[in-house]
Amino acid sequence: MEFVSKDNKVIQIINEKLLPFVRKIDEEAFYPVEFMKEIGLSGYFTSVTKKETPIRLKEITLIEETAEYCMTSAFLLWCHLATLASVRLSNNPYIKNELLPILERGEAFGGTGLSNALKYYAGLEPVRLKAERIAGGYKISGSLTNVSNLGNNHWIVILASVSHRQRVVSIIPVKLDGLVMERKTHFVGLNGSATYSCNFHNVFVPDKWIITKEADEFIKQVLPVLALYQIPLGLGVSKASIKTILNFHPNDVEVYKHLEPQPDELIKDIESIRDTTYKHAKVSDLSIILKDVLLTRLEIAKLTPRVVHVDMLYSGGKAYLNGNDSFRRLRKSYFLQNLSPTVKQLELLFY
Ligand SMILES: Cc1cc2nc3c(=O)[nH]c(=O)nc-3n(C[C@H](O)[C@H](O)[C@H](O)COP(=O)(O)OP(=O)(O)OC[C@H]3O[C@@H](n4cnc5c(N)ncnc54)[C@H](O)[C@@H]3O)c2cc1C
Repeated sequence: MEFVSKDNKVIQIINEKLLPFVRKIDEEAFYPVEFMKEIGLSGYFTSVTKKETPIRLKEITLIEETAEYCMTSAFLLWCHLATLASVRLSNNPYIKNELLPILERGEAFGGTGLSNALKYYAGLEPVRLKAERIAGGYKISGSLTNVSNLGNNHWIVILASVSHRQRVVSIIPVKLDGLVMERKTHFVGLNGSATYSCNFHNVFVPDKWIITKEADEFIKQVLPVLALYQIPLGLGVSKASIKTILNFHPNDVEVYKHLEPQPDELIKDIESIRDTTYKHAKVSDLSIILKDVLLTRLEIAKLTPRVVHVDMLYSGGKAYLNGNDSFRRLRKSYFLQNLSPTVKQLELLFY
């Protein structure tokens, strides 16, 4: 089982800047910023000289390959790439010409606080941030429970409602008067994701940080990208589990023969979802295939826990030890169920 190409440069960066820290990321909430910087320095965030489809394929591959080794770091890449996808939709000259190049060079990083927006547009909860128009910008108040990939030199994409008819999307630096952030490190996994609760108390957001005043249209464009880019998180984790199963536990040994499902079946399912994902990525207007993308997102959310569970069964007693990779994957795989759009949100859509 090879699951197609490897990007040698990414593998080199993973080997040097990520592998030595995987346990520290998981056990000590270590945020792997040097890994992120190296990926940026090597040009993996840039959109210059490339068309939309090759950019998407490059970005999905990056997330998938990273997730094979560390889902937290792959999720951090997702956060930054989701920020880039949001910023690239803006016509605001400051954001396009000044901020985007900085983010694409990896000189600053971004996270998105858009889960609430996704739930709002699915009819599940109200918009948590309220914006009031004032001279030169907006005053924003409210709270977001979890926003990841944040730190001192970071930016956050947020959506706030101005009225029941209008919502705005902006990107703001973390160091702002009235923005109170608190680091969260008591998750069962993903503690290295630099996740913060963000409370906004009359935070002034000038017009130059407004991505768009047409938030409804923005969400239609960005949602399929966010969902598509979540799929390789599950693909990478699943591939790592399959490799563990095959490397350490040959299939022809009697004791493994009666476990269900068998690795061959899981590999077929992973390959099928992977093929579909890369096909989706080649469609230039993703909003046209939104439902297909969301269905594939749901499929990987359901498949990943099955694969990591079988990995646990094959790996036996050692998987029950602290620091074990199979158990780390099992814990982290549940994040895919609870990352918006969550399984419960997706099931509602396809019910
Ligand atoms: C480790 C981790 C990292 C995450 N990173 C991000 C991220 O980078 N960006 C992002 O947008 N989301 C992030 N999330 C949130 C995630 O995407 C999902 O939205 C969330 O985990 C699942 O939400 P839920 O629907 O189960 O309800 P929850 O969001 O857990 O909400 C549970 C209940 O609380 C209510 N509630 C939620 N927020 C508020 C609030 N502010 N005020 C009052 N009530 C509230 C909800 O309506 C609901 O009834 C992260 C979550 C985790 C666990």
